[in-house]
Amino acid sequence: MITEPPTVEQFRESVLDFIARHAEDAPPDWGPIMPPEERARGMAWQRLLHDHGFAGVHWPVEHGGRGLSEAHHRVFAEACQAAGVPSILNMVGLVLAAGAIRTFGTDAQRAEHLPPTLRGERVWCQLFSEPDAGSDLASLTTTAVLDGDRWIVNGQKVWTSGARASDWGILMARTEPDVPRHQGISFFLVDMRSSGVQTRPLRQMTGDAEFDEVFLTDVELPFDALVGERGQGWNLAMVTLTSERGHIGGAARSLERRLDRMLSAAADISAADRDRMLRLHVEGRAALHLLRRRGPDGAHPSLGKLASTRLTFDLAEFVADAQGAHAMLDGPAAAGLVAAPGAWFGGGTSQVQQNIIGERVLGLPREPRPN
Ligand SMILES: Cc1cc2nc3c(=O)[nH]c(=O)nc-3n(C[C@H](O)[C@H](O)[C@H](O)COP(=O)(O)OP(=O)(O)OC[C@H]3O[C@@H](n4cnc5c(N)ncnc54)[C@H](O)[C@@H]3O)c2cc1C
Repeated sequence: MITEPPTVEQFRESVLDFIARHAEDAPPDWGPIMPPEERARGMAWQRLLHDHGFAGVHWPVEHGGRGLSEAHHRVFAEACQAAGVPSILNMVGLVLAAGAIRTFGTDAQRAEHLPPTLRGERVWCQLFSEPDAGSDLASLTTTAVLDGDRWIVNGQKVWTSGARASDWGILMARTEPDVPRHQGISFFLVDMRSSGVQTRPLRQMTGDAEFDEVFLTDVELPFDALVGERGQGWNLAMVTLTSERGHIGGAARSLERRLDRMLSAAADISAADRDRMLRLHVEGRAALHLLRRRGPDGAHPSLGKLASTRLTFDLAEFVADAQGAHAMLDGPAAAGLVAAPGAWFGGGTSQVQQNIIGERVLGLPREPRPN
Protein backbone atom coordinates (compact mmCIF):
# COMPACT_ATOMS: atom_id res chain seq x y z
CA MET A 1 0.00 0.00 0.00
CA ILE A 2 1.39 3.44 -0.94
CA THR A 3 0.94 6.01 1.84
CA GLU A 4 0.77 9.71 1.04
CA PRO A 5 3.63 11.81 2.46
CA PRO A 6 2.46 14.14 5.28
CA THR A 7 1.59 17.72 4.38
CA VAL A 8 3.83 20.37 5.95
CA GLU A 9 1.13 21.09 8.56
CA GLN A 10 0.68 17.39 9.45
CA PHE A 11 4.44 17.08 9.67
CA ARG A 12 4.68 20.14 11.95
CA GLU A 13 2.21 18.52 14.35
CA SER A 14 4.23 15.31 14.47
CA VAL A 15 7.43 17.30 15.13
CA LEU A 16 5.82 19.30 17.97
CA ASP A 17 4.44 16.09 19.45
CA PHE A 18 7.89 14.45 19.29
CA ILE A 19 9.54 17.46 20.95
CA ALA A 20 6.89 17.60 23.70
CA ARG A 21 7.50 13.93 24.52
CA HIS A 22 11.29 13.82 24.19
CA ALA A 23 12.74 17.30 24.87
CA GLU A 24 13.73 16.14 28.36
CA ASP A 25 16.05 13.49 26.86
CA ALA A 26 17.77 16.00 24.55
CA PRO A 27 21.36 17.06 25.06
CA PRO A 28 22.07 20.82 24.90
CA ASP A 29 22.16 22.37 21.42
CA TRP A 30 25.96 22.55 21.15
CA GLY A 31 25.81 24.07 17.66
CA PRO A 32 28.03 22.76 14.88
CA ILE A 33 30.64 21.21 17.20
CA MET A 34 29.69 18.42 19.60
CA PRO A 35 32.16 18.18 22.54
CA PRO A 36 34.15 14.94 22.06
CA GLU A 37 33.37 13.68 25.59
CA GLU A 38 29.62 14.03 24.86
CA ARG A 39 29.70 11.66 21.90
CA ALA A 40 27.55 8.93 23.52
CA ARG A 41 24.86 11.38 24.61
CA GLY A 42 24.85 13.21 21.28
CA MET A 43 24.63 10.04 19.23
CA ALA A 44 21.82 8.63 21.40
CA TRP A 45 19.78 11.73 20.46
CA GLN A 46 20.70 11.37 16.76
CA ARG A 47 19.53 7.73 16.97
CA LEU A 48 16.24 8.82 18.55
CA LEU A 49 15.72 11.38 15.76
CA HIS A 50 16.40 8.65 13.21
CA ASP A 51 14.05 6.15 14.81
CA HIS A 52 11.21 8.71 14.77
CA GLY A 53 11.79 9.66 11.12
CA PHE A 54 13.47 13.01 11.78
CA ALA A 55 16.97 12.28 10.44
CA GLY A 56 17.56 13.22 6.81
CA VAL A 57 14.03 14.59 6.49
CA HIS A 58 14.68 16.06 3.01
CA TRP A 59 17.18 13.43 1.82
CA PRO A 60 15.99 11.05 -0.90
CA VAL A 61 14.71 7.70 0.36
CA GLU A 62 17.47 5.87 -1.56
CA HIS A 63 20.05 7.80 0.53
CA GLY A 64 18.41 6.63 3.76
CA GLY A 65 16.31 9.78 4.19
CA ARG A 66 12.60 10.43 4.51
CA GLY A 67 12.18 11.85 0.99
CA LEU A 68 10.23 14.96 2.10
CA SER A 69 10.63 18.56 0.90
CA GLU A 70 12.97 21.38 1.98
CA ALA A 71 9.88 23.00 3.57
CA HIS A 72 9.42 19.95 5.82
CA HIS A 73 13.10 20.09 6.73
CA ARG A 74 12.83 23.81 7.64
CA VAL A 75 9.79 23.16 9.82
CA PHE A 76 11.72 20.50 11.72
CA ALA A 77 14.89 22.61 12.14
CA GLU A 78 12.97 25.70 13.27
CA ALA A 79 10.79 23.79 15.74
CA CYS A 80 13.92 22.24 17.29
CA GLN A 81 15.68 25.59 17.49
CA ALA A 82 12.60 27.21 19.09
CA ALA A 83 12.52 24.43 21.71
CA GLY A 84 16.30 24.62 22.28
CA VAL A 85 16.88 20.98 21.25
CA PRO A 86 19.42 19.99 18.56
CA SER A 87 18.04 19.19 15.10
CA ILE A 88 21.25 17.40 14.12
CA LEU A 89 24.42 16.40 15.90
CA ASN A 90 27.80 15.96 14.22
CA MET A 91 27.34 18.68 11.58
CA VAL A 92 30.56 17.55 9.86
CA GLY A 93 29.00 14.12 9.29
CA LEU A 94 25.48 15.11 8.35
CA VAL A 95 26.18 18.31 6.39
CA LEU A 96 29.76 18.16 5.07
CA ALA A 97 30.66 14.48 4.70
CA ALA A 98 27.15 13.42 3.72
CA GLY A 99 26.81 16.44 1.38
CA ALA A 100 30.02 15.49 -0.44
CA ILE A 101 29.10 11.80 -0.62
CA ARG A 102 25.54 12.47 -1.77
CA THR A 103 26.62 14.92 -4.47
CA PHE A 104 29.91 13.45 -5.69
CA GLY A 105 30.14 9.91 -4.26
CA THR A 106 29.50 6.55 -5.86
CA ASP A 107 26.47 4.38 -5.08
CA ALA A 108 28.75 2.11 -3.06
CA GLN A 109 30.04 5.05 -0.98
CA ARG A 110 26.46 6.24 -0.36
CA ALA A 111 25.32 2.79 0.73
CA GLU A 112 28.37 2.34 2.98
CA HIS A 113 28.32 5.71 4.76
CA LEU A 114 24.95 7.47 4.66
CA PRO A 115 22.68 5.10 6.65
CA PRO A 116 25.04 4.63 9.65
CA THR A 117 25.75 8.38 9.72
CA LEU A 118 22.02 9.13 9.88
CA ARG A 119 21.56 6.52 12.61
CA GLY A 120 24.25 8.19 14.75
CA GLU A 121 26.60 5.21 14.49
CA ARG A 122 29.30 6.99 12.48
CA VAL A 123 30.80 10.26 13.70
CA TRP A 124 32.90 12.35 11.29
CA CYS A 125 35.62 14.98 11.53
CA GLN A 126 37.00 17.42 8.94
CA LEU A 127 40.70 16.99 8.11
CA PHE A 128 41.28 20.18 6.08
CA SER A 129 43.35 22.81 7.99
CA GLU A 130 47.09 22.38 8.42
CA PRO A 131 49.67 24.34 10.43
CA ASP A 132 50.54 26.36 7.28
CA ALA A 133 47.23 26.09 5.45
CA GLY A 134 44.16 27.68 7.06
CA SER A 135 42.62 30.61 5.19
CA ASP A 136 44.95 29.76 2.32
CA LEU A 137 43.81 26.15 2.27
CA ALA A 138 45.13 25.50 -1.25
CA SER A 139 48.69 25.61 0.12
CA LEU A 140 48.11 22.31 1.98
CA THR A 141 51.03 19.88 1.88
CA THR A 142 49.57 16.57 3.12
CA THR A 143 50.16 14.10 0.27
CA ALA A 144 48.32 11.04 -1.01
CA VAL A 145 50.45 8.95 -3.38
CA LEU A 146 48.90 6.18 -5.45
CA ASP A 147 50.78 2.91 -4.92
CA GLY A 148 49.14 0.09 -6.91
CA ASP A 149 45.52 0.03 -5.76
CA ARG A 150 45.96 2.02 -2.54
CA TRP A 151 46.81 5.56 -1.49
CA ILE A 152 49.61 6.28 0.97
CA VAL A 153 48.92 9.42 3.00
CA ASN A 154 51.48 11.50 4.91
CA GLY A 155 51.09 14.89 6.60
CA GLN A 156 49.66 16.79 9.55
CA LYS A 157 46.26 18.35 10.13
CA VAL A 158 45.29 20.78 12.90
CA TRP A 159 42.20 22.26 14.63
CA THR A 160 40.31 19.06 13.77
CA SER A 161 37.14 19.36 15.87
CA GLY A 162 36.31 16.13 17.68
CA ALA A 163 38.95 14.05 15.84
CA ARG A 164 39.58 11.69 18.72
CA ALA A 165 35.86 10.95 19.08
CA SER A 166 35.39 10.36 15.33
CA ASP A 167 35.09 7.14 13.36
CA TRP A 168 35.74 8.67 9.94
CA GLY A 169 37.22 11.87 8.51
CA ILE A 170 36.91 13.83 5.27
CA LEU A 171 40.44 14.59 4.10
CA MET A 172 41.95 16.99 1.58
CA ALA A 173 45.36 15.87 0.34
CA ARG A 174 47.65 16.69 -2.57
CA THR A 175 47.75 13.98 -5.23
CA GLU A 176 49.31 15.98 -8.10
CA PRO A 177 52.36 17.97 -6.98
CA ASP A 178 53.24 19.35 -10.45
CA VAL A 179 50.05 21.14 -11.53
CA PRO A 180 48.62 24.56 -10.44
CA ARG A 181 47.96 24.09 -6.73
CA HIS A 182 44.13 24.15 -6.79
CA GLN A 183 44.11 21.40 -9.42
CA GLY A 184 46.35 19.00 -7.50
CA ILE A 185 44.10 18.32 -4.49
CA SER A 186 41.83 15.29 -4.00
CA PHE A 187 39.11 14.49 -1.46
CA PHE A 188 39.18 11.26 0.57
CA LEU A 189 37.21 9.38 3.22
CA VAL A 190 39.49 8.13 6.00
CA ASP A 191 38.76 5.50 8.62
CA MET A 192 40.17 7.18 11.75
CA ARG A 193 41.12 3.76 13.15
CA SER A 194 43.54 3.17 10.26
CA SER A 195 47.09 2.36 11.23
CA GLY A 196 49.26 5.54 11.14
CA VAL A 197 46.51 7.96 12.28
CA GLN A 198 47.43 9.62 15.57
CA THR A 199 45.38 12.31 17.36
CA ARG A 200 46.58 14.69 20.08
CA PRO A 201 44.15 16.98 21.93
CA LEU A 202 44.71 20.76 21.80
CA ARG A 203 43.77 22.62 25.00
CA GLN A 204 41.96 25.95 24.39
CA MET A 205 41.74 29.03 26.62
CA THR A 206 38.25 27.87 27.65
CA GLY A 207 39.97 24.96 29.43
CA ASP A 208 38.29 22.45 27.10
CA ALA A 209 40.01 20.48 24.35
CA GLU A 210 37.43 20.38 21.56
CA PHE A 211 39.92 19.86 18.78
CA ASP A 212 43.00 17.79 18.00
CA GLU A 213 46.14 17.77 15.93
CA VAL A 214 46.08 14.75 13.61
CA PHE A 215 49.29 13.11 12.39
CA LEU A 216 49.05 10.89 9.30
CA THR A 217 52.06 8.63 8.82
CA ASP A 218 52.06 6.16 5.91
CA VAL A 219 48.30 5.74 6.26
CA GLU A 220 47.01 3.25 3.66
CA LEU A 221 43.65 4.00 2.06
CA PRO A 222 41.87 1.76 -0.45
CA PHE A 223 41.56 3.23 -3.97
CA ASP A 224 37.84 3.84 -3.48
CA ALA A 225 38.48 6.14 -0.51
CA LEU A 226 38.65 8.85 -3.21
CA VAL A 227 35.44 10.91 -3.64
CA GLY A 228 34.80 12.38 -7.09
CA GLU A 229 37.62 12.65 -9.62
CA ARG A 230 41.28 12.66 -8.74
CA GLY A 231 42.46 16.33 -8.66
CA GLN A 232 38.87 17.68 -8.29
CA GLY A 233 39.04 17.92 -4.48
CA TRP A 234 39.19 21.71 -4.41
CA ASN A 235 35.84 22.22 -6.17
CA LEU A 236 34.30 19.51 -4.06
CA ALA A 237 35.54 21.08 -0.82
CA MET A 238 34.31 24.53 -1.82
CA VAL A 239 30.79 23.14 -2.21
CA THR A 240 30.97 21.53 1.25
CA LEU A 241 32.49 24.63 2.91
CA THR A 242 29.76 26.87 1.51
CA SER A 243 27.19 24.60 3.11
CA GLU A 244 29.16 24.81 6.40
CA ARG A 245 28.99 28.62 6.32
CA GLY A 246 25.30 28.45 5.46
CA HIS A 247 24.74 26.11 8.39
CA ILE A 248 26.68 28.24 10.86
CA GLY A 249 25.31 31.56 9.61
CA GLY A 250 21.79 30.24 9.32
CA ALA A 251 21.34 29.80 13.06
CA ALA A 252 18.74 32.59 13.23
CA ARG A 253 16.73 31.06 16.03
CA SER A 254 19.76 30.55 18.20
CA LEU A 255 20.70 34.23 17.77
CA GLU A 256 17.12 35.19 18.57
CA ARG A 257 17.23 33.15 21.79
CA ARG A 258 20.42 34.91 22.87
CA LEU A 259 18.88 38.32 22.13
CA ASP A 260 15.79 37.41 24.18
CA ARG A 261 17.98 36.22 27.06
CA MET A 262 19.86 39.50 26.98
CA LEU A 263 16.59 41.47 27.25
CA SER A 264 15.26 39.33 30.07
CA ALA A 265 18.46 39.94 32.09
CA ALA A 266 18.13 43.71 31.69
CA ALA A 267 16.34 44.62 34.94
CA ASP A 268 19.28 45.83 37.05
CA ILE A 269 21.57 47.45 34.53
CA SER A 270 22.83 51.03 34.35
CA ALA A 271 21.51 53.62 31.87
CA ALA A 272 24.75 53.36 29.85
CA ASP A 273 24.45 49.56 29.66
CA ARG A 274 20.80 49.90 28.72
CA ASP A 275 21.79 52.13 25.81
CA ARG A 276 24.43 49.60 24.69
CA MET A 277 21.96 46.76 25.04
CA LEU A 278 19.38 48.50 22.88
CA ARG A 279 21.95 49.13 20.17
CA LEU A 280 22.91 45.45 20.25
CA HIS A 281 19.27 44.48 20.11
CA VAL A 282 18.65 46.61 17.02
CA GLU A 283 21.77 45.20 15.32
CA GLY A 284 20.63 41.72 16.30
CA ARG A 285 17.17 42.19 14.78
CA ALA A 286 18.78 43.48 11.55
CA ALA A 287 21.07 40.41 11.50
CA LEU A 288 18.05 38.15 11.98
CA HIS A 289 16.35 39.64 8.92
CA LEU A 290 19.56 39.15 6.96
CA LEU A 291 19.86 35.52 8.06
CA ARG A 292 16.25 34.76 7.16
CA ARG A 293 16.53 36.44 3.77
CA ARG A 294 19.60 34.54 2.69
CA GLY A 295 19.59 32.49 -0.49
CA PRO A 296 21.21 29.13 -1.07
CA ASP A 297 24.61 30.20 -2.44
CA GLY A 298 26.73 33.13 -3.58
CA ALA A 299 27.78 35.49 -0.80
CA HIS A 300 24.73 34.94 1.43
CA PRO A 301 26.37 32.32 3.66
CA SER A 302 29.30 34.73 4.18
CA LEU A 303 26.99 37.62 5.08
CA GLY A 304 25.09 35.44 7.54
CA LYS A 305 28.23 34.02 9.13
CA LEU A 306 29.84 37.43 9.49
CA ALA A 307 26.76 38.98 11.09
CA SER A 308 26.06 36.15 13.52
CA THR A 309 29.66 35.61 14.64
CA ARG A 310 30.19 39.33 15.27
CA LEU A 311 27.06 39.46 17.38
CA THR A 312 28.07 36.29 19.23
CA PHE A 313 31.15 38.12 20.44
CA ASP A 314 29.43 41.47 21.15
CA LEU A 315 26.66 39.77 23.14
CA ALA A 316 29.14 37.70 25.17
CA GLU A 317 31.15 40.85 25.92
CA PHE A 318 28.04 42.78 26.95
CA VAL A 319 26.79 40.01 29.25
CA ALA A 320 30.20 39.75 30.96
CA ASP A 321 30.53 43.56 31.32
CA ALA A 322 27.02 43.93 32.67
CA GLN A 323 27.67 41.29 35.35
CA GLY A 324 30.75 43.10 36.66
CA ALA A 325 34.33 42.13 37.46
CA HIS A 326 33.53 38.78 39.12
CA ALA A 327 32.06 37.54 35.80
CA MET A 328 35.57 37.72 34.32
CA LEU A 329 36.83 35.02 36.67
CA ASP A 330 34.42 32.15 36.44
CA GLY A 331 30.92 31.05 35.46
CA PRO A 332 28.90 31.10 32.23
CA ALA A 333 29.61 34.77 31.34
CA ALA A 334 33.39 34.23 31.44
CA ALA A 335 33.07 30.93 29.58
CA GLY A 336 30.97 32.61 26.86
CA LEU A 337 33.50 35.40 26.51
CA VAL A 338 36.56 33.18 26.02
CA ALA A 339 34.68 30.82 23.69
CA ALA A 340 33.30 33.57 21.41
CA PRO A 341 36.44 34.50 19.40
CA GLY A 342 36.64 30.94 18.04
CA ALA A 343 33.54 31.70 15.97
CA TRP A 344 35.53 34.31 14.01
CA PHE A 345 37.83 31.54 12.75
CA GLY A 346 35.84 28.30 12.45
CA GLY A 347 34.40 27.76 8.96
CA GLY A 348 36.54 30.58 7.45
CA THR A 349 37.65 33.75 9.25
CA SER A 350 35.69 37.00 9.36
CA GLN A 351 38.33 38.78 7.25
CA VAL A 352 38.02 36.11 4.58
CA GLN A 353 34.21 36.47 4.63
CA GLN A 354 34.70 40.23 4.20
CA ASN A 355 36.92 39.59 1.18
CA ILE A 356 34.23 37.37 -0.34
CA ILE A 357 31.52 39.99 0.27
CA GLY A 358 33.74 42.79 -1.05
CA GLU A 359 34.51 40.94 -4.26
CA ARG A 360 31.22 39.16 -4.97
CA VAL A 361 28.64 41.63 -3.63
CA LEU A 362 30.30 45.02 -3.85
CA GLY A 363 32.38 44.29 -6.96
CA LEU A 364 35.60 45.58 -5.34
CA PRO A 365 38.95 44.71 -6.93
CA ARG A 366 40.25 41.26 -5.94
CA GLU A 367 42.45 41.04 -2.85
CA PRO A 368 46.03 40.04 -3.73
CA ARG A 369 46.28 36.22 -3.55
CA PRO A 370 49.29 34.35 -2.16
CA ASN A 371 51.17 32.28 -4.77
C1 LIG B 1 36.25 26.50 16.77
C2 LIG B 1 37.03 26.08 15.55
C3 LIG B 1 36.80 24.84 14.98
C4 LIG B 1 37.53 24.44 13.84
N1 LIG B 1 37.31 23.19 13.34
C5 LIG B 1 38.03 22.78 12.28
C6 LIG B 1 37.87 21.44 11.77
O1 LIG B 1 37.09 20.63 12.30
N2 LIG B 1 38.60 21.06 10.70
C7 LIG B 1 39.46 21.90 10.07
O2 LIG B 1 40.06 21.49 9.09
N3 LIG B 1 39.69 23.16 10.55
C8 LIG B 1 38.98 23.61 11.63
N4 LIG B 1 39.19 24.87 12.13
C9 LIG B 1 40.24 25.70 11.55
C10 LIG B 1 39.71 26.88 10.76
O3 LIG B 1 39.16 26.47 9.54
C11 LIG B 1 40.90 27.83 10.58
O4 LIG B 1 41.20 28.36 11.86
C12 LIG B 1 40.60 28.96 9.63
O5 LIG B 1 40.47 28.49 8.32
C13 LIG B 1 41.74 30.02 9.67
O6 LIG B 1 42.97 29.44 9.45
P1 LIG B 1 44.20 29.71 10.47
O7 LIG B 1 43.74 29.41 11.85
O8 LIG B 1 45.38 28.98 9.94
O9 LIG B 1 44.46 31.28 10.41
P2 LIG B 1 45.23 32.07 9.26
O10 LIG B 1 44.70 31.67 7.94
O11 LIG B 1 46.70 31.93 9.49
O12 LIG B 1 44.77 33.56 9.55
C14 LIG B 1 45.40 34.38 10.55
C15 LIG B 1 44.77 35.77 10.46
O13 LIG B 1 45.05 36.34 9.16
C16 LIG B 1 43.86 36.74 8.53
N5 LIG B 1 43.92 36.48 7.08
C17 LIG B 1 44.39 35.37 6.47
N6 LIG B 1 44.27 35.49 5.12
C18 LIG B 1 43.70 36.70 4.88
C19 LIG B 1 43.32 37.41 3.70
N7 LIG B 1 43.48 36.86 2.48
N8 LIG B 1 42.78 38.65 3.84
C20 LIG B 1 42.60 39.20 5.07
N9 LIG B 1 42.94 38.58 6.23
C21 LIG B 1 43.49 37.35 6.14
C22 LIG B 1 42.78 35.85 9.14
O14 LIG B 1 41.48 36.42 9.02
C23 LIG B 1 43.24 35.73 10.58
O15 LIG B 1 42.81 36.83 11.33
C24 LIG B 1 38.50 25.30 13.27
C25 LIG B 1 38.74 26.56 13.86
C26 LIG B 1 38.03 26.94 14.98
C27 LIG B 1 38.32 28.27 15.60
